[in-house]
Amino acid sequence: MQTRHRSHAAFARAKELIPGGVNSPARAFGGVGGEPLFFASALGQRLTDIDGHSYLDYIGSWGPMILGHRHPRVVAAIEETLGKGMSYGAPTEAESHLAELIIAAVPSIEKVRMVSSGTEAAMSAVRLARGFTGRDKLVKFAGNYHGHVDSLLVAAGSSAATLGVPNSPGITAGTAADTIVLEYNDVEALETLFKRSGGEIAALLMEPVVGNMGLVTPSREFLTAARTLTHTSGTLLVFDEVMTGFRLSYGGAQEIHGVTPDLTTLGKIVGGGLPLGAYGGRRDVMDHVLPAGKVFQAGTLAGNPLAVAAGMATLEELRDNPPYERLERHGRRLEQGFREAAAAAGVPAWVARVGSMMTMFFQHGPDVVPVRGWKTASLSDTARYADFFWKMIDRGIYLPCSQYEALFFSAAHTDADIEATIAAAVASLAAR
Ligand SMILES: *Cc1c(COP(=O)(O)O)cnc(C)c1O
Repeated sequence: MQTRHRSHAAFARAKELIPGGVNSPARAFGGVGGEPLFFASALGQRLTDIDGHSYLDYIGSWGPMILGHRHPRVVAAIEETLGKGMSYGAPTEAESHLAELIIAAVPSIEKVRMVSSGTEAAMSAVRLARGFTGRDKLVKFAGNYHGHVDSLLVAAGSSAATLGVPNSPGITAGTAADTIVLEYNDVEALETLFKRSGGEIAALLMEPVVGNMGLVTPSREFLTAARTLTHTSGTLLVFDEVMTGFRLSYGGAQEIHGVTPDLTTLGKIVGGGLPLGAYGGRRDVMDHVLPAGKVFQAGTLAGNPLAVAAGMATLEELRDNPPYERLERHGRRLEQGFREAAAAAGVPAWVARVGSMMTMFFQHGPDVVPVRGWKTASLSDTARYADFFWKMIDRGIYLPCSQYEALFFSAAHTDADIEATIAAAVASLAAR
C-alpha cells in the first residue's frame, strides 16, 4: 500500500475551507470511499500526486486532455497569447478562427456561440430551444448528465413519463415539473410520449453516447426514433457532445452515427484543458440568440483568449494529426484485456466501449446483464468496483473514482502503457 500523507493533510485542510474539500463533487471519491489524491503536476499520459507517486491517467481531466497533458502545441499557443493579453471583454479574431474550426468539424453546426463551461452550454441551449419554439417542456434521459442546470437536474418521477422530481434541494418542484425523464434506449416510451404531447416539447436533450452513467451506447432504432419524432413534432433535438465531441471522432458522435441534431453542446476538449464551452447548430435557430435575436445569453469571460487559444491548438492538432485510429486500436486492446481479466477471475462484468471511452460495469451475476440505460447500469456492484479502483491506484493506474463514470485515455498513451494497465487489471481482479 502506498502512503499518501500529503494528500491526506491537504484534504483535511481543504475540507475546512471548501465544501467537502473539493470544487466539484466528482473529485471527492464518494463513489469509492477513502480520500481523493491531490495532484502536483502532469505530463503526457501521466499524473504525479503531491506524495510523489506517478500514475497512468485514465480520466484526462474527465475528457479534455485527449492529446495528453502539456502538449507542446497547446502550451505554445497559450504562451503566445498570454504575452499579448488575457481578456478584453471585446471581440478577437481568434474567436472566429475557433468558430470556423468547430463549424468545419461538427456536421450539424452552422453557427456557434462560445461560453465558459458545458453547464453553461446546456443552460443556454435550453433557453434557446424554449425561446425558438415558444414551448416549455423538456425531455431528458435518466443517467444522462448535462451539467448542473436546474431544469436538467431532474430525476424520473414515480409514474414514468409524467412529472420529473428535483435531483437536488434548491430546485423548485415547478422547474422540475417541466422536465420529463425517460429511460435511455426505450423507443416505445419515446413514441408514446411524442404521440401524446410532442407539440408541447421544446427540446429533447441526449448524450448521443452516454458517458455519465458509465459508458452506454444508443441503439440505431433509438437514435432514429429520437430524430424522427422530434422532427415531426417541431421539437429541437439537442445532442450533448460535451464529452463525445472531438473525442469519439473529430466530428463527434453525430459524425459516427450519421444523425444530425438541431443543436449541439460542446465543452471539455473544445477548450483544450481551459474553461470553454460552446453551443451551436442550425443557423435559423442560432440567429435567435441576442444580439442577432431576442434570446438573452452573455458572459464576461466568454470566448476568453487563453481558452480560445488552447481550444484552437487542440482542434488543429486533432485535425492535422488525427489520433482516432490509434485510440481505437488501444481501446480495442484495453477492452479485450479487461474482459479477459474479468472472465479469468470469475467476475461478472459488462464491458462497454466506444473509441477512447470505456466502462467495465461490475455486476452481481451470475449472468452478465447488458447495460442499456439507467435501470441496468444501476444494478452494478459498486463495492466491487471500489475494491478494483483502489487496487489499481496501488498499481499506479488512475481510473475514474466512480463505477458510473467512463474512463478516458489519450493519444499520449503508448502500447506499453495499455499492456501495463491490462496487467494491473489482471492482478487486481485476481487479488480479490
Ligand atoms: C461534463 C459534462 C457536462 C458539464 O460540463 P461542465 O464543463 O462540467 O459544466 C455536460 N454534459 C456532459 C455530457 C458532460 O459530460
